[in-house]
Amino acid sequence: MKQLRVAIDGPAGAGKSTAAKLVAKELALPYIDTGAMYRAVTWKALQLGMSLDEEDKVTELASRLDIAFIANHEQQSVLVDGEIATEQIRSPEVTERVSQVAAIRGVRAEMVKLQQRIANRQGVVMDGRDIGTHVIPDAEVKIFLTASLQERAKRRKLEMENKGIYLSQDELETSIARRDELDSSRDVAPLRQAEDAHLIDTTGQTAAEVAERILGVCKDFLGTNQ
Ligand code: C5P
Repeated sequence: MKQLRVAIDGPAGAGKSTAAKLVAKELALPYIDTGAMYRAVTWKALQLGMSLDEEDKVTELASRLDIAFIANHEQQSVLVDGEIATEQIRSPEVTERVSQVAAIRGVRAEMVKLQQRIANRQGVVMDGRDIGTHVIPDAEVKIFLTASLQERAKRRKLEMENKGIYLSQDELETSIARRDELDSSRDVAPLRQAEDAHLIDTTGQTAAEVAERILGVCKDFLGTNQ
């Protein structure tokens, strides 16, 4: 099979990771969650009591942090300096602060280096905010997922409730809209749709339906390029 790198971008809660995991499984490709990398740096910095305003220190931390993904069955664990931090990096505290860390130029340079090293040696399904625009601008397949703010907040609400964390729809809409604003307005690699990305609105669609549409784009590529 021709090398296939699938870049999936979009705002928070658009359904990227669930669909990306299904696509990766179907195509037997590794799935790389780049948001988890920025979350890992944020989590570790907060654990060490660092001020996130000290950009040089946070960048230095990002440059030496060992971030690894371990696939086990349906789940993917995230190891940060050898410690399992899969749940911790998704805490509301990390979610509130991660966009500040992701806006630091030096942190992005370190993470992008890591992501490009992975994407250079193999086919991959990678999701994030700047994969199709900066990390793999020559990806064979580029997808941009969107959904209404209400739906994205509703999905996040269910996800959090499954973990025993109860937040109101309003709180989640405010928090997601704030994160979108920070991610779209930053100077370095802001969230935006690549010109050659396929736009898919996931409002009202199941993850399986979204994955099917992405797989359709992949099959079109493979069908015409084998
Ligand atoms: O995908 P997720 O919501 O876990 O990402 C967390 C945060 O990491 C995003 O809000 C964004 O600030 C940052 N991020 C990024 N670039 C990526 C992936 C995530 O800036 N490629």
